[in-house]
Amino acid sequence: MGRAGSAVAASGRREAATPGYECLDGEVPVFYSPRLVGKAGRLSGCLAQGHGTLGRILSVERPRIVAYLVANEDWKEAPRDNARPYPPGLPYFTRSVEPPALVQPEELSPVFRPRTVATLPLTVWHELAHAFLLGREVVRTPAWLGEFVAQAASAAVARRVGLPLEEHLSRIEREPGFNVRGFRGPAGAEDQMSFQNLLLLLGAAALEEFGEGFLQSIFHALWDEDEVIDGVRAEELLAGALGPGGWEWLVSTPEFQEDPL
Ligand SMILES: [Zn+2]
Repeated sequence: MGRAGSAVAASGRREAATPGYECLDGEVPVFYSPRLVGKAGRLSGCLAQGHGTLGRILSVERPRIVAYLVANEDWKEAPRDNARPYPPGLPYFTRSVEPPALVQPEELSPVFRPRTVATLPLTVWHELAHAFLLGREVVRTPAWLGEFVAQAASAAVARRVGLPLEEHLSRIEREPGFNVRGFRGPAGAEDQMSFQNLLLLLGAAALEEFGEGFLQSIFHALWDEDEVIDGVRAEELLAGALGPGGWEWLVSTPEFQEDPL
């Protein structure tokens, strides 16, 4: 859809365009299937809130991106990095089109849980955080750290805009024996969700303990690294970003406990 339908805009930059899709202008323009007009409005509001808020939290220029709200019947045509379509219902961020795009499914997969008023905004802000991070070159990072950053940033937006997270967090079911550093991926969708929820709990706890300043530090730390980040370095970077007492706090959290292996 993005590749075949690209057109030259008045500015001369290539714009991702989709045959038959309409565009809702905004801070993050939303291309949507005409039958999803109501959802497009809600998505647009969520994106504007997240884009502006993340820009302020991180004190960085906001990346120029667009969003696609993709109808089920068009999912196989959505822009993506790989040749094969992704599993339905999972939002993602892709740089395969210009401007880069957040691809949002018509309905979130049932694997997303817990389901509360916070579920959709959190998933949208999570992908936006990836877009901010990937606005500059980033070296390879252990999966847990890249996802932690997105989850913590998403929780930070929720705090700033007054979206209550307590109910959402309290409904997360913890899987015994599952910890952040033990996540190696690739994993099934259920394990992915447990992992993401664990990172959300850790992110919310870190915000509670240290405030949101560590987000700016960890984004810059990741941008400044020029060699592949291994597990040990990832832990150092996060502890450093948290500041004094960061390491002691991190290893004391249940989410971060050493693998029992
Ligand atoms: Zn992610």
